[in-house]
Amino acid sequence: MKRNATLLLTIIIALAFTLSGAASAEAATDGQADVVIIGAGGAGMAAAIQAADAGASVILLEKMDYAGGNFIRSEGGMNAAGTVFQKALGIEDTPQAMVDDTMKGGKNISDIELVNFMAQNSSDTIDWLTGLGMDMSEPAQGAGASYPRMHRSAGGAKIGGVLVPVLMENLEKRGITILYGTKAVSLIKDGAAITGVIAQDKTGDELTFKGNSIIIATGGFGASEEQFAKYRPDLAGFSTTNHPGATGDGIVMAQDVGAAVVDMEQIQTNPTVEPTTRIVLSETVRGNGAIMVNVEGNRFIAEMLTRDVLSAAILEQPEKYAWLIFDQRVMDSMAALQQDDRMGIVSRGETPEALAEAISVPGEALRASIEGWNAAVAGNSDPLGRETGMMDLSTGPWYAIKVSPAVHYTMGGIKIDTQTQVISTEGEIIPGLYAAGETTGGVHGANRLGGNAVADAMVFGKRAGEVASEYALQLGHMELVVPDGGEISPLAEGNYTDGEYIATAPGRNGAIELRIVVYGGNITQIEVLSHSETQAIFQAVERDLIPGVIASQSTDVDIISGATMSSDAVLAAIDSVLS
Ligand code: ADP
Repeated sequence: MKRNATLLLTIIIALAFTLSGAASAEAATDGQADVVIIGAGGAGMAAAIQAADAGASVILLEKMDYAGGNFIRSEGGMNAAGTVFQKALGIEDTPQAMVDDTMKGGKNISDIELVNFMAQNSSDTIDWLTGLGMDMSEPAQGAGASYPRMHRSAGGAKIGGVLVPVLMENLEKRGITILYGTKAVSLIKDGAAITGVIAQDKTGDELTFKGNSIIIATGGFGASEEQFAKYRPDLAGFSTTNHPGATGDGIVMAQDVGAAVVDMEQIQTNPTVEPTTRIVLSETVRGNGAIMVNVEGNRFIAEMLTRDVLSAAILEQPEKYAWLIFDQRVMDSMAALQQDDRMGIVSRGETPEALAEAISVPGEALRASIEGWNAAVAGNSDPLGRETGMMDLSTGPWYAIKVSPAVHYTMGGIKIDTQTQVISTEGEIIPGLYAAGETTGGVHGANRLGGNAVADAMVFGKRAGEVASEYALQLGHMELVVPDGGEISPLAEGNYTDGEYIATAPGRNGAIELRIVVYGGNITQIEVLSHSETQAIFQAVERDLIPGVIASQSTDVDIISGATMSSDAVLAAIDSVLS
């Protein structure tokens, strides 16, 4: 209900300005704000909150029917050094150690100034998030980190599922409008400066937004095989952990107005992705003691090495996948694993042999791997050279999850400075244009450390909001105008149980499998994992029916004529998990 009140207020304000003629004199302008932000993922939402708190009017354009982007899928946590939470636990981390780890992890090609800025501001950003109502109290060990600095909520739930609802609540409190189903397609240039955005609503109609500052926060391009294979032909055919909206739009828009890009060929595969559901198993599982074995039941690599090394090592194994092995202690310590267990991706055995049987690996070998690991922990000396996450796996029952690498994060992107100003191919600042988050390049170099994506999006998202609002307000305040007849509505409110669900129902030609994500009581994502329907018919279900369910938070939507069986199957599958 609160959301509806906000919506009504926004409409009234918009109407008032439209009627009083206060909107832009240019008739073609459908909306305006001091700061127009493209993309309502982590970086965009952080920027919006900060810009609104600095007194700017803000509009967020989001092409999908839900907010959160890839950010909602973040598993581990946010890296930060020297925080109150680390100090309380006696962890003597420093921003310099975070800089050193990030540079080393990124093979020393990162932009040192950006890395410095992120590390120096990470602790303050944790305080800022705490002030917004986020619990960041539990620092965990990440791969490639000298200290436990991956901050997450007590109990270790997946961070995206906790942080996105907190950011959305804060948008709502400030009355910030998100225009869902509104896809930015190009930037408007006036002389050297960027002064607006051309977008399309769901019907394909063009909308024009004027803003003194434009922030690109559209995320990476890990969901576009066309794009990632263009920069890295060796990754053609790889699956992805990314949400379908991660298609690099902002990078292309920025290049069209002369922006420079950096490190585009630096694409990270995550080594531990469950292949059927594409759920990412955070490295904090390994940080807690988990090991990996191949189909022969043998360990093959020090499991806390960087993601690129682990991905390559798994692809060298006979079946190109591995089993992540852990025990009851690890399971008990991580709410995220308990969520995964409810998703049905975890195998279990009362003894190592029973687990081995469940996953079809040789029992003796698996027992030897677990016992060998426990001995390595006891003697603090691992034959494979692992040095962190040294915790034994001696509390049965034991568990296994199948993992293989998938495209996970695109490290390259738009070139920015520490003020998030976009830099042109000539090395000049492009006035009025800012960028933050995965759409930018330079922070992670050749390899991103786990926990640094959230740090990047939060530190630079907040920074973009700060700098862009200051610049915009210097040029003069723009009253908020939202487009008349545009898609103004934030999501309707659902009342469902949070979690990630896999649902199946029989369609015309076979099973349709969906992945449904519920956060903060709302259905935030419905992804078709597999189907055998005729694509030409099914695409209307994906394009119209599924977004309709998300927008209305209900399966009481019009079915697609000509695709009745497919529509009914999808709605039945969704109903089966919502009930
Ligand atoms: P980050 O973590 O950097 O914030 P995310 O992937 O979490 O990146 O968020 C990026 C958001 O931008 C997603 O919600 C995505 O749907 C949105 N987006 C991508 N391209 C466009 C576009 N052309 N117009 C509007 N929103 C976009």
